[in-house]
Amino acid sequence: MTSVRVIGGGLSGCEAALQLADAGYQVELHEMRPTVQTPAHKTDGLAELVCSNSFKGLAFTSAHGLLKEEIARCGSKLLPLAFESRVPAGESLAIDRDVFSANVKAALEARPNIHLIRDEVKTLDPDQWTILATGPLTSESLAQDLFARVAAIGAANGSPDAKRLFFFDSIAPVVMADSLEEEFLFAKNRWDKGDAPDFLNVPLDKEQYFEFVDALVAADTVEAKPFEKGQLFEGCLPIEEMARRGRETLRYGPMRPIGLHDPRTDKRPFAVIQLRAENAQRSLYNLVGFQTRLKWGTQKDILTKIPGLRTAQFARLGAMHRNTFLDAPKVLEPTLRLRGTKIFCAGQITGAEGYTEALSTGLYAAAALHAAIEGRENFRWPQGTCLAALTEHLTSPNPDFQPMNFNFGLLPSNPVWKKKERKERQIEECQKAWEGFDPMGLKTAESVEAAST
Ligand SMILES: Cc1cc2nc3c(=O)[nH]c(=O)nc-3n(C[C@H](O)[C@H](O)[C@H](O)COP(=O)(O)OP(=O)(O)OC[C@H]3O[C@@H](n4cnc5c(N)ncnc54)[C@H](O)[C@@H]3O)c2cc1C
Repeated sequence: MTSVRVIGGGLSGCEAALQLADAGYQVELHEMRPTVQTPAHKTDGLAELVCSNSFKGLAFTSAHGLLKEEIARCGSKLLPLAFESRVPAGESLAIDRDVFSANVKAALEARPNIHLIRDEVKTLDPDQWTILATGPLTSESLAQDLFARVAAIGAANGSPDAKRLFFFDSIAPVVMADSLEEEFLFAKNRWDKGDAPDFLNVPLDKEQYFEFVDALVAADTVEAKPFEKGQLFEGCLPIEEMARRGRETLRYGPMRPIGLHDPRTDKRPFAVIQLRAENAQRSLYNLVGFQTRLKWGTQKDILTKIPGLRTAQFARLGAMHRNTFLDAPKVLEPTLRLRGTKIFCAGQITGAEGYTEALSTGLYAAAALHAAIEGRENFRWPQGTCLAALTEHLTSPNPDFQPMNFNFGLLPSNPVWKKKERKERQIEECQKAWEGFDPMGLKTAESVEAAST
């Protein structure tokens, strides 16, 4: 029996371990708690949810509902256990976290080919088949080993100085392109550099700018966790902190209008919010330099007062936390394999943010590793599905890579589709694409029906 090491008994690691055990592997699952604790986990339980107890929406028309349906159809092991632990929460899948963790433990213990080892893994072996699933709070020793390893991958690819592993995220809000009020924006690069404009610009006049700054100063921020205090970098301050340092600070920082004459008025606006495409299909844009700790409701309220953004739909809102994640576009292959090794990555360490995404990438990495062992090097999830879109986003070139939840902006869109029908068509294409797909080669017709949400 081939042996596989899974490092991390969290959401993605437990999903991967169960998948691989049922595919016939001997699985060594390493979990460092309780010997070594993380700053956010509270128990020694496997698959512990560190914060909210919700896996978010179930409706097909929500991004997380669609993703759940896809992984249910593709044989997720943890999702049915989440349903067994469900507590009432309307259209969402909320769970009793202790019952869920106990269910996961029982499922692992029921497989004689899973050996649970309670220890901290400090080094990786690139020649051993491994799933790396140590999450946003990967232990210090392992993070250092990984740091050295990804630096070597950088050196092998001709860029030894580039960062390959991050310890803190600073996320700016990301908006859906087709929710913007185009008539208020202009496309332009600063000083007209480059062949074609890569940026959309939201101009603000003096009054709008000062209203915005005053709102930022008065707004509520998310309280930093004790282990995150004192971790702000001067080069990456939250916008509300910049606003507090002076009413003009943002106008000389990320909102500087210099080199950005509005072609419609041929005047330089008083201040500008720049939007930069987040993906190749330009369906998502991030607000450049707008990392923030404002509460999510407050971010939406303040930003949607600005003409151009009044109807904006947010694919994700700004955040800043302690978070260990790889520079996935630079170090992972499309199969989530760490370049040049036998290590496949799953969960938050890949930059896929969220509980449902952790289960999904756990399943994906297990299937990709299984395929690699069987010599199917061209393994791909079917195009048009949620997981193909999410993993493509994680591994496509992106100089400002930051963690991302799954959202509709990542799914392929056909330019002939009308704006109103786009989501409906994406859902249809997605459902067609996953039909009959069996990533681990273990499904039966009954299991597919039973798994369907
Ligand atoms: C504070 C915080 C709050 C969050 N809140 C939410 C939320 O409310 N909703 C949401 O959808 N997402 C949330 N996330 C994001 C993310 O979805 C979760 O962190 C999710 O649990 C990630 O799954 P994972 O499998 O990647 O990591 P985890 O579930 O964290 O599992 C990783 C496991 O690896 C173990 N481990 C670490 N290092 C080692 C080592 N060297 N050797 C052995 N074991 C090791 C850890 O103890 C842990 O059990 C939050 C993240 C953080 C940091």
